[in-house]
Amino acid sequence: MSKLFLQRCITPDCRAEYKLDERLYVCSRCGGLLDIEGAEDIGIDAASLRELWRERRASVDERDRSGVWRFREFLPFDEDTKLVSLGEGNTPLYDAPRSADYCRLPQLKLKHQGCNPTGSFKDTGMTAAVTQARKLGARLVVCASTGNTAASLAAYAARAGIDCAIIVPSGQVSNAKLAQALDYGAKVQEIEGNFDSCMNKIRELSEDESIYLVNSINPFRIEGQKTVAFELAEQLEWRVPDHLVMPGGNLGNSSAFGKGFRELLKSGLIDRQPKITVVQAEGAAPFARFYSHHEHGFVNEEHPQTLASAIKIGAPVSWQKAWRVVSETGGSVITVSEQEIADAKAIIGRDGIGCEPASATTVAGIRKLVSDGTIKENETVVAVLTGHLLKDTDYVMKYHSGTLITPDGSLVIRN
Ligand SMILES: *Cc1c(COP(=O)(O)O)cnc(C)c1O
Ligand SMILES: [Zn+2]
Repeated sequence: MSKLFLQRCITPDCRAEYKLDERLYVCSRCGGLLDIEGAEDIGIDAASLRELWRERRASVDERDRSGVWRFREFLPFDEDTKLVSLGEGNTPLYDAPRSADYCRLPQLKLKHQGCNPTGSFKDTGMTAAVTQARKLGARLVVCASTGNTAASLAAYAARAGIDCAIIVPSGQVSNAKLAQALDYGAKVQEIEGNFDSCMNKIRELSEDESIYLVNSINPFRIEGQKTVAFELAEQLEWRVPDHLVMPGGNLGNSSAFGKGFRELLKSGLIDRQPKITVVQAEGAAPFARFYSHHEHGFVNEEHPQTLASAIKIGAPVSWQKAWRVVSETGGSVITVSEQEIADAKAIIGRDGIGCEPASATTVAGIRKLVSDGTIKENETVVAVLTGHLLKDTDYVMKYHSGTLITPDGSLVIRN
């Protein structure tokens, strides 16, 4: 088996190529995003791959135990690479009857990515990005974060023995997420402004050669995150759902899911892609606006506002990749209100499944898509829960005591 992976610029009239070990985050010719290519043609047939991956589930090898590295044929690393892993992935796919009822569907499945080692899907990307950081000999890894990326990077950096610094918007990250980053030994710098200001600061820092930037602009994170598509397809016995619905902030997750399904389709492991729909909070919805009015180009949201802090992002770095995913699969981009998010979150909780507010946009969104006829009653639907309930208990306590106030000052009604 030969693996010939490379990095390629996604800008249609550029398409510049770079080797895997070139430390860059965007195309040095045009500034475009980079994609990792090579997994399209791995030279093993579908039946053998399924069999190989199934066998690995019974193995005690650390690489086989990880829900990411179990699919390593599709990852841009050599067999002898020293991995930085915490046993990520392998997350449950739950039936959620109350949530289904709420959406007026006979059945709804929830893929709970909050069951990763640090409580969010970020771990599936971080294992790949920090493995790459170590391969490149990075001295320091850095990221800007609304919290979960920070918690995840801090943990993987600690495993790798690499120093870690994170920049977060002051007063806007939940205690739980900050506590994780501190416990894992990261240096935390809080700055005034929002996530987007943190991101600008990070880009300046990453000019330094010994520093490695691990935001979702980093294509290796997308590679790790794409394996959730493999895991989900396997859990569904390779029958993909009609609809897959997930929250959208920086849009790395939707880009990664789309890339994963695209590669599965090309390799003959599945026979079609699910329609991928992205849900944003009304107050932080630049991608949804672009979806409805793309004739004006992509316009960032200057002042993103939502209590779902994980998706409070006005300038999503991966919007071009996510746009390709939504249009290629025939999905859509919609918004939900703060009240709808809170209601959906409480319903998911009644299924015995705990998620953070951003994740609940999915069930809120599915309810809307069913009521406007976009999702038909006989179609299969999977919602992706991105983070764990315990990430933001403040929100839960306020909701249940009737004191949850939205950014525009109105009270969320407890239903
Ligand atoms: C990061 C995150 C998101 C947003 O994912 P993007 O890849 O930035 O679109 C949503 N929910 C949770 C819990 C997250 O941690
Ligand atoms: Zn380019």
